Amino acid sequence: MKPAPFAFARARSLAHAIDLLAEDEARLLAGGQSLIATLNMRLDRPRLLIDINAIPALDRIALTDGHIEIGALVRHVQAERSTEIARHAPLIALAIPHIGHPAIRNRGTIGGSIAFADPAAELPACLVALDGDMEIAGPEGRRVVRAEEFFQALFQTALGPRDVLTSIRIPAANGASRAGFAEFARRHGDYAMVGLAACARADGGQLADIRLAYFGVGAVPVRARKAEVAMADGDLEGAIAALGAELHPNDDLHATAAVKTHLAGVLLRRVAKQLMGPVSERVP
Ligand SMILES: Cc1cc2nc3c(=O)[nH]c(=O)nc-3n(C[C@H](O)[C@H](O)[C@H](O)COP(=O)(O)OP(=O)(O)OC[C@H]3O[C@@H](n4cnc5c(N)ncnc54)[C@H](O)[C@@H]3O)c2cc1C
Repeated sequence: MKPAPFAFARARSLAHAIDLLAEDEARLLAGGQSLIATLNMRLDRPRLLIDINAIPALDRIALTDGHIEIGALVRHVQAERSTEIARHAPLIALAIPHIGHPAIRNRGTIGGSIAFADPAAELPACLVALDGDMEIAGPEGRRVVRAEEFFQALFQTALGPRDVLTSIRIPAANGASRAGFAEFARRHGDYAMVGLAACARADGGQLADIRLAYFGVGAVPVRARKAEVAMADGDLEGAIAALGAELHPNDDLHATAAVKTHLAGVLLRRVAKQLMGPVSERVP
C-alpha cells in the first residue's frame, strides 16, 4: 500500500517543529520505521509530516550530573555502539540488539521508540525499570515526566499533540548497579511475546532496589511489584508465583495468557541469575 497524500516540512529547530505542529493532523517524522508503515497501511492519514532529523543537538549522548542523557534523535545503532551507554546505562545496551534488525536500528531513533510506545517494545520497559525521565518540549515550554507516568494506555503517552520528546535521562549506573534483560520472540528481531527489563543494586550478597518491568503483557510496561518484594527477600519461587496475580496478559495470535504468564516466570528465572553478577561481562 502507499500512504494517503501529505504535505512535508523539515523543521530547522525545536521551536520551528512546535510551530509546525499547530497544523491539524501533523505528525513528527524521526526514523520513520514505525510511522511510515502506519501510513502505508493507512492506519493514519496525517496532513503534514514534520521531519525533525535536522534539529540540532537532539542526537547527543551526554553524562551530566550523575545521569546519562540520550537525545531523542540518537539512532538505535548509535546507542548500541556507544561506550557511554555500555558503561552508564548497561540495561539499554543489553536491550537494543533485540530491537528489529540492523536496517531498522540504522534509522530508528530512541525518541521514536519511546514516543510510539508499542506495548511489546523493549525501550519503554527499560525506561520504567531504570526509573528514567522523559524530557519534553511543547508550546508551554519544557517539562519532565517520569517513565512510569509517561506510558498511559495502548500507544498513548504523556505527549500532547504539539509536544516533542527531546531526550531521556537515566541515573548513571555505578559498580553496585545490576541489570538483566531477557525476552521471548518467535525469531530474533521480532517484537517480543513477553519480555523483562530489570535492574537492582548489589548490597553485600543481596539485591536491593529491584525493579522488574515486563513488556508484551499489557498496554504499557508493567512493574511486577510483588515479585520485586519477594526477590528482595531472596525468594525467587515466591516471586515467580506472585506473577500469576499481578500480570494480566491477553490471549493473542502468538500465545494464550496462561502461556505468557508461564514465560514471564521463565524469564524471571533467567534475569534473576543475570542480576547476581556484574553487568560488564554481558554488555558487548
Ligand atoms: C520490521 C520492523 C521490526 C521492528 N522490531 C522492533 C522491535 O523488535 N522492538 C522495537 O522496540 N521496535 C521495533 N521496531 C520499531 C523501531 O524500533 C522503530 O524505530 C521505533 O518504533 C520508532 O522509531 P522511529 O525513529 O523510526 O520513529 P518514527 O517511525 O519516525 O515515529 C514513530 C512515532 O513516534 C513519533 N515521534 C518520533 N519521534 C518523536 C519525538 N522526538 N517526539 C515526539 N514524537 C515522536 C512520530 O510522530 C510517530 O508517531 C520495528 C520496526 C520494523 C519496521
